[in-house]
Amino acid sequence: MGKIEDMQVINGEGYQLTSLEKVLATARANSVWPLPFATSCCGIEFMATMGSNYDLARFGMERMSFSPRQADLLIVAGTISKKLGPILKQAYEQMAEPKWVLSVGACASSGGIFDTYSVLQGIDRVIPVDVYVPGCPPRPEQIIDGIMKIHELVKHEPLRRRYSDEYKHLLTSYNIESDGE
Ligand code: SF4
Repeated sequence: MGKIEDMQVINGEGYQLTSLEKVLATARANSVWPLPFATSCCGIEFMATMGSNYDLARFGMERMSFSPRQADLLIVAGTISKKLGPILKQAYEQMAEPKWVLSVGACASSGGIFDTYSVLQGIDRVIPVDVYVPGCPPRPEQIIDGIMKIHELVKHEPLRRRYSDEYKHLLTSYNIESDGE
């Protein structure tokens, strides 16, 4: 997936011009390292998405990271209990900037069918979410679609966004410390 055609480029005879920002964004979007935070059935769908039939590696995502410190996409797939909420938040905080979050399935996005005292009614109560994938469970095609939407966000994110007041306010609203100055 070279994707140079996705960048805004100026073509001349024997040369091609673009901005450093676009080059970095394209490189980032095509080399995302996901951290799977899978707790139940949606996690099994994610495993199928990684398998040979759907082959997530096609999109530069061959390597799963099981350490938050070496991951830039947190994929939350499954039911998250209220007790697990602080652990999820800790994993998010340990990831370096820039980082993105994909919420896979009804449980992660809204608590799903588990409208009970023990289940978190959506992970966006503890961490910011970039893309939600609906379904119970979502099919691998839907998960891939969600990941493609994350790639679009990564490709079009300005380099300064993580230092913006808007982003700092977002993190502050979750009581999370920002890495930016
Ligand atoms: S959304 Fe449905 S399939 Fe996914 S974890 Fe919840 S109950 Fe299981």
